[in-house]
Amino acid sequence: MLKIFSISAFKDNYIWLLQEANSPYCVVVDPGDAQPVLEYLLANRQQLAAILITHHHADHCGGVATLLEHFSVPVYGPAGESITTVNQSVANGDKVNLPAINAVFQVYDIPGHTKGHIAYYGQGVLFCGDTLFMAGCGRLFEGTPEQMHHSLTTLAELPDETLVYCAHEYTLANLAFAKRVEPDNLLIESRMQHAMQLRQRNIPTIPSTIQLEKATNPFLRCHEPAIKSAAENFSGKSLDKAVDIFHVIRQWKDNFKL
Ligand SMILES: [Zn+2]
Repeated sequence: MLKIFSISAFKDNYIWLLQEANSPYCVVVDPGDAQPVLEYLLANRQQLAAILITHHHADHCGGVATLLEHFSVPVYGPAGESITTVNQSVANGDKVNLPAINAVFQVYDIPGHTKGHIAYYGQGVLFCGDTLFMAGCGRLFEGTPEQMHHSLTTLAELPDETLVYCAHEYTLANLAFAKRVEPDNLLIESRMQHAMQLRQRNIPTIPSTIQLEKATNPFLRCHEPAIKSAAENFSGKSLDKAVDIFHVIRQWKDNFKL
């Protein structure tokens, strides 16, 4: 049975730590900072067996070099990006075997936030870095709206019950925007109440599920009439293609202030 723990880093990053019950080995996803990981491993008498990286931003891979000074382990990362500490490049369709935690993950190419961004899916869980956020999505730093829309559509096709682990605690701000786009969606309001309760107790709002994202995340709902009409009102143009609706919603969010 795979257990997943959060390690907080920087202002709002989560480093995910995967552990098989009763095993002394664990795997971390996107360790932007080594120190909190080393502290966790020491406090819990754990050893690192592997590192998974989703993309090249420093808040996701900046801690790898220091971790490698303590543990000589495979570092999986995107073949489409140059990250000097990655020693196992992977791309769409590749499988990552992690016998130490009894897990296998499939790699998906999900460009948009960065050009080589990847996700890891297996054991009913998804690690999607800065692509699919809870009720939101990552900014388009290197990719096109077409790429990001395609990447999100790919992730939305995973099973409804898939647990979604993204890398930042942006949920409340994303839900405020989702509510502005789709004020009549009552699920957004109830999700917001639940997320506020979690944050008041300093509990991560992550994971969610693909089902909940499809019901409340505007970036996965560009085919819905309510989102189309909100995007048309915002842009003052008629929009027929889902990707154009996505692009307008993304630009709207880029400039949205609470
Ligand atoms: Zn990023």
